[in-house]
Amino acid sequence: MQIENDKVVTFFYQLSEQGGDVLESNKRELPMAYLHGHKNLLPALEEALVGLQEGDTKIVSLAPEQAYGQPKPDATQRIPVKHLIKPPKRLLPGLLVKVQTEQGATNGRIVKVGKFMVDIDFNHPFAGKVLIFDIKIESIREATSEEIQHGHAHGKGGHHH
Ligand code: ZN
Repeated sequence: MQIENDKVVTFFYQLSEQGGDVLESNKRELPMAYLHGHKNLLPALEEALVGLQEGDTKIVSLAPEQAYGQPKPDATQRIPVKHLIKPPKRLLPGLLVKVQTEQGATNGRIVKVGKFMVDIDFNHPFAGKVLIFDIKIESIREATSEEIQHGHAHGKGGHHH
């Protein structure tokens, strides 16, 4: 069986920045499950996996434009410290934090810390990076009609309701 629309695929991955550190990996955990063809992955990554079979490995390299875009210089905002959700004891530049906004909780990175205000960069942490995915396909199966209806995979490594 090969990867195509309406298949549930489980895979291991290691994500690195080109020429840099490992950003994420699930190689020591459960494989991740997704339903192919339902926009559950970055579109360019999903496209690169079409036709792979169980046990296949592939290195997929994505330019920022295929992944999280270029960082926007105007994505930094000055907000009251009290808008941080469960802030760390010491606020330091570079730390990732959750911020309460009118659109709900949003992730950001501290740029500068004042007494009552803090500058937060709301760019995606992977913006501007060339991302290298090292993928190993673990299993491929037919999706259930319920999974297709929901648009995501159920069971191990997938969605739980
Ligand atoms: Zn569901």
